[in-house]
Amino acid sequence: MKNLALKKSFHILYERHSGNLNRVVRYRYKYLTLTLLPTIGGTTPQNLNGRRCIDLNKAACRLAHEVANEGNALVAGGVTQSPSYTQGKGKDAVQSNIRDQVRVFLDNNVDFIICEFFMYVEEAEWVIEEAKKSGLPVAATMCIGTTGDYADVSPGECAVRMAKAGADVVGVNCMFDPYMTIETIKAMKEALDGAGLRPYLMTQPNGFFTTGTGKEGYLACPEYPFAMEARVVTRFDINKFARAAYDLGVRYIGGCCGFEAYHIRAIAEELSEERGKLPPASAKHKPWGENNKLSGTPAIRERVGRAYWENLVPSTGRPTPPTHDLNPKPKV
Ligand SMILES: [Zn+2]
Repeated sequence: MKNLALKKSFHILYERHSGNLNRVVRYRYKYLTLTLLPTIGGTTPQNLNGRRCIDLNKAACRLAHEVANEGNALVAGGVTQSPSYTQGKGKDAVQSNIRDQVRVFLDNNVDFIICEFFMYVEEAEWVIEEAKKSGLPVAATMCIGTTGDYADVSPGECAVRMAKAGADVVGVNCMFDPYMTIETIKAMKEALDGAGLRPYLMTQPNGFFTTGTGKEGYLACPEYPFAMEARVVTRFDINKFARAAYDLGVRYIGGCCGFEAYHIRAIAEELSEERGKLPPASAKHKPWGENNKLSGTPAIRERVGRAYWENLVPSTGRPTPPTHDLNPKPKV
């Protein structure tokens, strides 16, 4: 946040690669608000590196609108979990934090609110309830896998409770890889269908393989946080993920930690027929390695087409790859 111009370029990069698939330019507000950093303050005059947090948040909203206006995108304000919850301070304390943040969003005309990264569905319910008072549409996601939340509430029950709390969009974000996330969304959809609830579905998985991890997802990977490159998913994994998510009925498809702009582009390209267009960044390349035909190296000229890249099982390239379940085993 020291350099808003840099942050703006980051948003523009992602917008050009998505072609507004998510129709969101999102500022990651959560790291600067009083919910995660209560000593910083949300609407108080306390400082962060000499700047008031509220000023940073206003600047971020302005920046998000500037980028969104260039590509006809929407702007979402994000709120997240609060230390007040795990410290047992109760519903009023949690909702009070959210109220401060939502006020900034309303003052700065965001289009909708995303309540994300919840480990406990009870907290998600409290936050959704407060966010709904804004009158804006509310999307809500939890950072959970198939084993459910940190109080062992199943993903299905989490989804039903979030929808009943008022969330217009329900799903998961972060912690788990795209393939594992699909399994969690399946469980959520089943339960929602069973309860006769029809919120939109949303998924923003990590861009790292997390096979074999438990509730903590990628945080449990021995490579976290400084050697995660070995686990990065390919753009072709994302093609498969996007198709699987779409077929499941998910209509808000994106990415969280580990996703790069080219991953977002892969979602937009995989679903280009459904959307009726390609993202602007597709002009920079031809999908499925078509440009490899121009290579001066015969072996590279062979690596062209969906069948080649879709069926490729990437190796780690390391002389002693681990033989336990750290290697990806796509499920879709
Ligand atoms: Zn994340």
